[in-house]
Order: sequence, then structure tokens, then C-alpha cells
Amino acid sequence: MKKNKCRVAVTLKCQLDCKCCYMKDEACVEIFKLATAQEIAEKKYDEIAIAGGEALLALPDINDLIMECEHTGHKPSFYLYTNGIGLEEDVVITLRSWGLDGVDYFDHGLAFP
Ligand code: SF4
Repeated sequence: MKKNKCRVAVTLKCQLDCKCCYMKDEACVEIFKLATAQEIAEKKYDEIAIAGGEALLALPDINDLIMECEHTGHKPSFYLYTNGIGLEEDVVITLRSWGLDGVDYFDHGLAFP
């Protein structure tokens, strides 16, 4: 069965400035806020990819998104896309305690700044 997936950019901020970054076009992105988290939660996706910008710069927004989904009684799979900066052990422990299912770490930003 095909999964109902969503990819959300919780922030456009990032510590890097990769030439290949397509998130610099802010005109195509709405600002993430609590209402955004609620709207996404109500759609009851099977899987939500949390990205940015650098998503770890928006930990409170990630928490809002996960908690809003929890309030609906539907638990999607959550995956985080990160450049790895800030992915310290305590952050990983926190994300796991919130219900994150996995992290996709990419270093292209570090390799091709
Ligand atoms: S790490 Fe990702 S979000 Fe940050 S500048 Fe590079 S491509 Fe863009």
C-alpha cells in the first residue's frame, strides 16, 4: 500500500551556504508555526520528513509538530533530515524521547560549501 507522506521545512535557517541549496528561494515557502503543525497533524500522514534549512535549529517546532500529531491519536513515522551540525548525543536522546523514528544525515553541505 502506498504511504501518505509529507515533507516539511521547519525552518529556512542554516549554518551553511551550499551552492546547491534550493531552500534559498524563500518566496516558495510559508513560515512554519504552530498552526502549520496542527494542519499537518490533522491530515494524519503515514510518514513525515522533517527538514529545513537545518531542522535542528528549530527543535521547539519539531516538538510542536510531533506533539500535535500525538494529540490526534495518530502516530506517523518521523524522519529528520539534517546536515549533522548539532546532532549531539543529548539531542539524539531528546529526539528519540519525542518519538522520532530515524535521522537521515547528509554531508553534501560540508563537502560542497
Ligand atoms: S546544508 Fe542543506 S539547507 Fe543548509 S545550505 Fe546546505 S543544502 Fe541548504
